[in-house]
Amino acid sequence: MDLGIAGKRALVCASSKGLGRGCAEALAAEGVHLVMNARGAEALEAAAAEIRAAHGVEVITVAADITTEQGRAAVLGAAGDVDILVNNAGGPPPGMWTDWEREDFIKALDANMLTPIALIKALVPGMIERGWGRVVNITSQSVKSPIAVLGLSNSARAGLTGYVAGTARQVAGKGVVMNNLLPGIHDTDRATALDGGVSKAQGITVEEARKQREATIPAGRYGTAAEFGAACAFLCSQHAGFIIGQNVLLDGGAVNSTL
Ligand code: NAP
Repeated sequence: MDLGIAGKRALVCASSKGLGRGCAEALAAEGVHLVMNARGAEALEAAAAEIRAAHGVEVITVAADITTEQGRAAVLGAAGDVDILVNNAGGPPPGMWTDWEREDFIKALDANMLTPIALIKALVPGMIERGWGRVVNITSQSVKSPIAVLGLSNSARAGLTGYVAGTARQVAGKGVVMNNLLPGIHDTDRATALDGGVSKAQGITVEEARKQREATIPAGRYGTAAEFGAACAFLCSQHAGFIIGQNVLLDGGAVNSTL
């Protein structure tokens, strides 16, 4: 299927590795030029070089912390006008409900709620002016089904989800399509770090922790960044124009609900 987005420009935040990288790769495969971002310059440059070589698209890189005002200013300055925005950043650390103080919540809200909102506010007006745009926010399955140890993530992502639900409907008539993609467990560094947390908490090996977590997924395995990227590219495509303000779960069936 031709997604009809060749020649468009996308900003993919937090995209040197993992799910962001999967989205960048899938968009580049459709001929979309990229602005890629991550904090670490080395992995970012390596990812950008691989994508340029594989897909022949332009890739601008900005090494910056997207969760800071300064980082966002650097990214937005380099990006200029973009047609597609993929919001992403690292997730907050796990813990117990008694662990988290006001400062921890502020940090999580800054990273996983207020940063995507700031980028939406900066870039969507240009999309509206040009009459076409796509926004995909990477959130989490925890929006639909809480993950107890990720209380900071549950809270911040629920806030973003509420904002997007209303905003997507305000901009839909102007040609801007905004949706959330909700990853279940995917095979990335983040998933490995969480396997490590389970291993420590239960006194089992990391391999045993992974097996235990895989057993909770009806598909029997972790998802891949490539699968995730393909879904993102579709939501950014010409064919997604009637999909507004949705929360699309990619979790191998892990969330046990009918709707
Ligand atoms: P990952 O494999 O750890 O990759 C994170 C990417 O984001 C890296 O490129 C990292 O590069 C970049 N990054 C992190 N913090 C950043 C920041 N402040 N500014 C700019 N770039 C930043 O993580 P992932 O698994 O792809 O997860 C992506 C998001 O999905 C996270 O919010 C995670 O909580 C959420 N999620 C993941 C899963 C899963 O199973 N993988 C499930 C549910 C939700 P640098 O470190 O160099 O900055």
